[in-house]
Amino acid sequence: MAGYRAVVSTVALATAFLGLGRTASAQTHVDGNCYSDDFMVDVGSGVKVFDLTISLWNHPSDHTNVEDVLRNFARGVFEASNGAHKIRNITIHQDGLQKRFADIVWKQGGTSAPAAVAMVGGILDDLGKIYFYDYAQDLNAGGTDIIDLANGTADQREELGFTLTHEFGHYAYSMGDEYTRSLDITSPDQQPIALMSSAQLAGSVGSADPDLQWINFSTPQVLQPQTAGTGQWRIWGETSWPVLNKQCSSRRRVSDFFNPLGDSSAPIIDENGQSKSVSHYPFSVYYSNLPAITPTSSNT
Ligand SMILES: [Zn+2]
Repeated sequence: MAGYRAVVSTVALATAFLGLGRTASAQTHVDGNCYSDDFMVDVGSGVKVFDLTISLWNHPSDHTNVEDVLRNFARGVFEASNGAHKIRNITIHQDGLQKRFADIVWKQGGTSAPAAVAMVGGILDDLGKIYFYDYAQDLNAGGTDIIDLANGTADQREELGFTLTHEFGHYAYSMGDEYTRSLDITSPDQQPIALMSSAQLAGSVGSADPDLQWINFSTPQVLQPQTAGTGQWRIWGETSWPVLNKQCSSRRRVSDFFNPLGDSSAPIIDENGQSKSVSHYPFSVYYSNLPAITPTSSNT
């Protein structure tokens, strides 16, 4: 195994966990396309942890930039889950090895800056992945400038980390996008303030600290009516928390309401790493410790 291990959370490693993918037997089917969270490790105090693997395209002599991005990613997952979930261990395979078994395939991307993508519910699928890149559009620069990890700033590593948290919102939580394509995605005034919207806008550009409001899963109070029609709405028909705090059997799918023929679609990643829609419902996980910490109507 070529790679190094980065502990990016503050949770002590209690038991060895190889992190080479989750076995099917550790994902108990509950109902419909919904599964238990029994692939996670319960570390007590109401907290469960994810162990993840990355296939990284290169082998940087200095790990600082990569680990900084992952630290911000882990902070984002902690924030989005209101502290119920942490990232514990991330095993990194360098030189593009172990793509088949990785949660995250991290490529260079080039200056064309392909958008990071993820399979919705991919954490439940052996071939479900997040595709992530060194290069990204910099939304805090109006979407015209390019973030280049090798030459980027600490603020940009924050933006990349929060982008990865957004993709993890697709991959692990099966949430759809909530940014409004018809409006300016780079404008804080025109997008719902939520993780599945323009998460990069959380970056502490021009300020001391990130604005973590942008890292919260949405509530009905956050999303505005014009966001109906977003990916999230097409898949689930409601905002993030109302889905995440429901038991499997109570999770409605859009087709139940808007398309009785059951032809709703969900984005997946094809063999070329491109996002496309297919006619099926996404898999999802019922995370048993989320209902208790669901935000009330007046906060997120
Ligand atoms: Zn997205």
